Amino acid sequence: MIAQPSPAALEPLSPHDLVNYYRCPHEMELHRVRVDSLHHHGPAVARTPPDVVPIPRSPLISPPLSGVQVNDGRLDIFDGDRLIYADEAEKDLPVLFPSEHVTLDPRFVGSQANLVDPELQLHGRPDFVIRRANGNLVPVEYKATHLFVGYHEAHGRLFDTIQAIAECRLVEAAFGRRPLSAIVHYGDQTGSGTREGWVEIPYTEADERWLRFALGQIRSDLIRAPVTNGRICASCEANEQGLCRYAGARFEGAHHHLTKLFDSAGNGPALAAPRFGGR
Ligand code: SF4
Repeated sequence: MIAQPSPAALEPLSPHDLVNYYRCPHEMELHRVRVDSLHHHGPAVARTPPDVVPIPRSPLISPPLSGVQVNDGRLDIFDGDRLIYADEAEKDLPVLFPSEHVTLDPRFVGSQANLVDPELQLHGRPDFVIRRANGNLVPVEYKATHLFVGYHEAHGRLFDTIQAIAECRLVEAAFGRRPLSAIVHYGDQTGSGTREGWVEIPYTEADERWLRFALGQIRSDLIRAPVTNGRICASCEANEQGLCRYAGARFEGAHHHLTKLFDSAGNGPALAAPRFGGR
């Protein structure tokens, strides 16, 4: 009988790793090397061999994505909702709740803010977690970019939805209650504000099976090949830092931050005020 690896022996992964692997496995590997080097104060080596053959697309299949709802305008916040988690390390997040509706869970503030799933060895930080009046928990990921015109339920911004699925699992592991869905909120801070919107992504059994499969695939990939797709390379952080010898395009801007929100003095644009509604 072949022994299964214990959770502690699994390579720790984050929602960010999933997104990067879905874009380009080598991007994810280069990010891992950077993080390992920082933690161990010394050089780490990428597992990608020097004679690797680039691939046209990532081998990771897309998540099921059934029942995604696309909404124009500001995220609906209701009287009974509470903000129970916020990633305070993220400086460019909007103010979603007035202070009387903020009840941060003391288990996950400050240095304890990293959410961890010990079984899957998954760790990370959603931007927010909302507890609805009925007790449902909803992770929220904030993007300064706009709601894409023609957002298609099956294909639109898959990177963001992959992150949302992984964060549902993290919230379930940390808070002990399984979210039914996650929200990706597009604030349009980088545009005119007229294309603000949000997308609600159900978290189903099929999504969880996909997540488990994806984590297994990433860990068993001993090559982590480069995807030399010009569009992907143009928004790759490893490319920005000159770390990738396979880059198929010049770097034009990070995929998660299309423009800088703050100037060098730390001044940013006015953030969106919350919108309240009754139930
Ligand atoms: S530059 Fe292109 S090939 Fe290289 S890691 Fe980035 S996305 Fe992959």
